[in-house]
Amino acid sequence: MIVLVLNSGSSSVKYQVFNTDKKQVLAKGQVERIGMSGAVLTHKPYDRETVRLSGEILDHKMAIEYVLSILLSKNHGVIKDRSEIDAVGHRVVHGGEAFSKSVLINEEVMRELRRCIDYAPLHNPPNLKGINAASALLPGVPQVGVFDTAFHQSMPNYAYIYGLPYALYKRHGIRRYGFHGTSHRYVSERALELTGLSGENSRIITCHLGNGCSAAAIKNGKSIDTSMGFTPLEGLLMGTRSGDMDPAIILQIMGKEELTMNDATTLLNKHSGLQGISGVSSDMREIEEEYESSKRARLAHDIFTYRLKKYIGAYAAALGGLDVLVFTGGIGENSELVRRNSVSGLEFMGIELDEEKNSAKEPRERAIHKDDSKVQVYVIPTNEELVIALDTHRIVEEMKN
Ligand code: ADP
Repeated sequence: MIVLVLNSGSSSVKYQVFNTDKKQVLAKGQVERIGMSGAVLTHKPYDRETVRLSGEILDHKMAIEYVLSILLSKNHGVIKDRSEIDAVGHRVVHGGEAFSKSVLINEEVMRELRRCIDYAPLHNPPNLKGINAASALLPGVPQVGVFDTAFHQSMPNYAYIYGLPYALYKRHGIRRYGFHGTSHRYVSERALELTGLSGENSRIITCHLGNGCSAAAIKNGKSIDTSMGFTPLEGLLMGTRSGDMDPAIILQIMGKEELTMNDATTLLNKHSGLQGISGVSSDMREIEEEYESSKRARLAHDIFTYRLKKYIGAYAAALGGLDVLVFTGGIGENSELVRRNSVSGLEFMGIELDEEKNSAKEPRERAIHKDDSKVQVYVIPTNEELVIALDTHRIVEEMKN
C-alpha cells in the first residue's frame, strides 16, 4: 500500500511517502514558509539527490498540491499517477478525550477535531487544514488521523486530574493529556522487541528529548503517566519552554512586567527553557559546545538533566520498579552527556551505563547499559512517521473487510 504521511504545521507541511508492505520510505520532504515570501519545497526521493524548489505557496492546499506534483514529476517523482496513493495518514496533535487510538476520518471525526481546537489553538487548526486540503485534492482516498495524545489516554484519573476544582475538568476539559504519544508508543514497543520482555509484564520509562521534551511511564505496554500536561508546556525543561514551575510565578510576573496573556504565553513557550536560562541557545548542541566556557550554558544543561533524573525516579516509583529506560529524540539519540548526567547516581535503582556503549555513535539503535545492569538502557531512534503509515495501512485494510 502507498501511504502519504502528512504533518501540517502553521507554516509548514512535512511529508513522507511509504510503501507500507515493505516498510520503505519512497520520498520525504517539506514545504516551509507557507503564506510567506520565499516559500520552499525540499524533496528527497529515496534513490536520488535532494532538490529544493521555491515558489509562491499561499496556503496548505497549494502546499499539498505542490507536494503531489513533485511526487509525480518525471525527474524527482516516485509515483506515476495520483491514484497510486492508497491512503493519507495525518499527524494530529490533540485528540482530547475522544480519541484513544488512530481513526478513519469522517464528518463526525472532523466535528470532534474542531471541538479540540480549544485545547490546541496553535496546532489543531493547521492539522485540520491539512486534512481538508488532502481530502479535496485526493477525493475518495481514505484519510486517517493519528493523535499525539492518544497513547496517553490509558492514564488513570489520579495521574491526569490536577489539584484544581473538579468542575474545571468537567466544564473545560482541564486535565493532563500528554503529547509525543506516537513516539513514546513506537520506542516502547521497539524496546519490548529488543529486550524480549513481555508486553503484559514490563515497566518502561521513555524519554523523548527533542526541541520539546517529555517522559512517559509505560506499564505492561500502556502509558500510565507522562510529563507534558494540558499543553506541551509542562514537565521537563525544553529548548524554549519552561516545563514545571510554580504557577504563582506567572501571575506575579504578569503584574510586575505588565504582560498580557499573549506576552506571558510567548515568554513561557518561546523565551524560557535552555534558551532563557543560558542566553546562549535553545539548541542542545550549542549548549554543549559552551558547556565548559559559559556558566549559564552549564547551568541550563545541569537543570535539564537534574529535572530528567527526578522524573526517572518518580516514574520508577509510579511503575513499582523499572525494567527498561529508553532515550529518543534529537537530544536523547545524540547527546551522550545528557544520558550520562541524567542517570548518574541512579546506580542504587539498578541503572548502570556502559560508558563505551554510551559514547559510541553506531549502531544508532543500541543498548548502552553494563552487562550486569538490572535496568536495561536503550537508545532508540524514534519513527513517528512509520507509526502513522502503519496505523493508516491497518485501518484502511480493516475498512475493506
Ligand atoms: P524536534 O523536537 O523539533 O523534532 P529533534 O528531535 O530533531 O527536534 O531534536 C532537536 C534537538 O536535538 C536540538 O536541541 C538539537 O541540538 C539536539 N541535537 C541534535 N543532534 C545533537 C547532538 N549531536 N548532540 C546534542 N544534541 C543534539
